[in-house]
Amino acid sequence: KTRTRFAPSPTGFIHLGNIRSALYPWAFARATGGDFILRIEDTDLERSTQAAVDVIIEGMAWLGLNHDEGPFYQMQRMDRYKAVLAELQAAGQVYPCYMSVAELDALRERQMANKEKPRYDGTWRPEPGKVLPPVPEGVQPVLRFRNPQGGVVAWDDKVKGRIEISNDELDDLVIARPDGTPTYNFCVVVDDIDMAITHVIRGDDHVNNTPRQINIFKALGKEPPVYAHLPTVLNEQGEKMSKRNGAKPVTQYRDEGYLPDAMVNYLARLGWSHGDDEIFSREQFLQWFDLDHLGRSAAQFDEAKLRWVNAQHIKAMADEALAPLVAAQLAKEGIAADERLPALCALFKDRCDTTVALAQWVRPFYADVQIKDEDRVQHLTEAIQPAIATLADKLAQVSWDKAAIAAAIKETLAAHGLKMPQLAMPVRVLVMGTPQTPSVDAVLALFDREKILKRLREH
Ligand code: GLU
Repeated sequence: KTRTRFAPSPTGFIHLGNIRSALYPWAFARATGGDFILRIEDTDLERSTQAAVDVIIEGMAWLGLNHDEGPFYQMQRMDRYKAVLAELQAAGQVYPCYMSVAELDALRERQMANKEKPRYDGTWRPEPGKVLPPVPEGVQPVLRFRNPQGGVVAWDDKVKGRIEISNDELDDLVIARPDGTPTYNFCVVVDDIDMAITHVIRGDDHVNNTPRQINIFKALGKEPPVYAHLPTVLNEQGEKMSKRNGAKPVTQYRDEGYLPDAMVNYLARLGWSHGDDEIFSREQFLQWFDLDHLGRSAAQFDEAKLRWVNAQHIKAMADEALAPLVAAQLAKEGIAADERLPALCALFKDRCDTTVALAQWVRPFYADVQIKDEDRVQHLTEAIQPAIATLADKLAQVSWDKAAIAAAIKETLAAHGLKMPQLAMPVRVLVMGTPQTPSVDAVLALFDREKILKRLREH
């Protein structure tokens, strides 16, 4: 059974680039009948916040990226890491290092001066026959991992292909701090082992950690998982997407009127492809998803494209399903929608790329309209007033349906010798606040008659 995980660090509000690293492992688990695990990597106590955890959980729930296990929190697993650390130490795979920060800095400077890559030189690494320096007094050591010497660490990355790193390029990693707390790379490996992760699908900013993690797996006598390192997501300026350069929290897209299925569709295409298919449902995506079609180069976020994808999903969505989402947007303005909402969605959804835009279209059915001065000047002329009055009188009489309304409009045109746009434009401005709307009879039929008569007669 496949088991994947999403392991965010709650050090900032999760953005689209981050959530894509949740989408793929989720989709892979779903597509293969496996499990998807959520793990919060909250060991950076200074930068982790509960608010960031909340956005992760809320954002994933909104997008329907449901997890089968978790959330696990690394801070709650410290005892477990320490126990595994003790095992490694007992097995001689870990050793204390007393090198001070000043000594490490001096070492680094010497190496840089010699144009060498800065690395720990193994001073405190025990070897048969080697005499270690005297242990300084009152210094709490760090624990270092005894990295294998010679040979290579290799893996077949599902995105990047075969990667081989010479062990001699890896120095002995610090895996516990002087206070005994385990460090990041060690916790990740213990978690991936305990959670029986089969496929690690994550951002390629972690690719340098992978050889170190694989060596720790091996030291613990475990097989490493399959790795897939995803290329970066760039923002519209071509920089790595990050909250520092203005990436929005995922949940903001919900507030801006994006549909979860459209987001999943858009994010799926941001680094994975299925031929030329651009628009697809969640179900279709899960049928198609595989690791073999992950893109190898960085993907660039394009908000206009996201809006377009959203518009396609709005169009395709059933009106009954769309209505509650629009109702939620209206509720933010204190407007309570009613049973007309699905029909209103049907009438306007082709013009909208977000549910916020759709709510704006529907608004005049529930709230007063504001007529712009320029529309008043252009469309509500003195000359048209008698025709509007005639129309109001006729509409007061008819049975309130689209056909009868259309007939009343026609009779009014005939009585005043007008063409359709000459009357339709002013009527639209009066009832909807804009001259561009779907056909007037369809719009009027969804209003209360009283509201229409009032808007036609009092302006
Ligand atoms: N916590 C890491 C991050 O947020 C992810 C680690 C991993 O997936 O192995 O970048």
